[in-house]
Amino acid sequence: TQFSDLGLAPDLLTGLETAGYTTPSPIQARVIPAALDGRDIMGIAQTGTGKTAAFALPILDRLMGLPRRAGPAACRALILAPTRELVTQIAESIRKYAGSRRLSVTVIVGGVKYGPQIRMLSRGSDIIVATPGRLLDHMSSGTCRLDETEMFVLDEADHMLDLGFVKPIRRIVAALPSARQSMFFSATMAGPIKGLADSMLDRPHFAEV
Ligand code: AMP
Repeated sequence: TQFSDLGLAPDLLTGLETAGYTTPSPIQARVIPAALDGRDIMGIAQTGTGKTAAFALPILDRLMGLPRRAGPAACRALILAPTRELVTQIAESIRKYAGSRRLSVTVIVGGVKYGPQIRMLSRGSDIIVATPGRLLDHMSSGTCRLDETEMFVLDEADHMLDLGFVKPIRRIVAALPSARQSMFFSATMAGPIKGLADSMLDRPHFAEV
């Protein structure tokens, strides 16, 4: 399988070539076509398998294909990850795949000042990459709202549960429009994770590596 077989916009393929990616990884080959079709995704994959590009490329494809600016405090895509480090890595990968296209990627993590985050959020974002706790703070104070969010990713769900993020995640998911695309990634599919996945996915496409 080649990247050009997956249905991605030619623009994105050029960026991947520049990044030195020649062939899609197995999780990318299994996730990208279904995600481009608008399906919800249940992905079982570890870090290092290329799962970031598996969810980021379909998001970029849609944002570029239907350009539209999110309103103040809103975003078109929301990606939740368990740690500051992972959020930062995901945002860096997205900027790499987006290449020269101007895309607003807002990073929301705890342990830093609110002011700069509030200013970034107020402009409206194409993509927000966040840890759950700080995002909820912004939702509670009205500096972030999710009513325009079209695409939602929960990355490393197993790690999220270990860190006790179930309640914040459920509150965030409850604020999302029901007409959305959701992608759920976890290294395992143990009991409580399956329950969380079932509560937020609609007839998902399963992709396991
Ligand atoms: P991830 O599992 O998303 O953390 O990705 C692991 C590493 O693989 C990252 O450094 C990516 O830049 C790299 N990577 C992801 N997809 C590909 C690909 N199709 N070809 C080459 N490298 C890739």
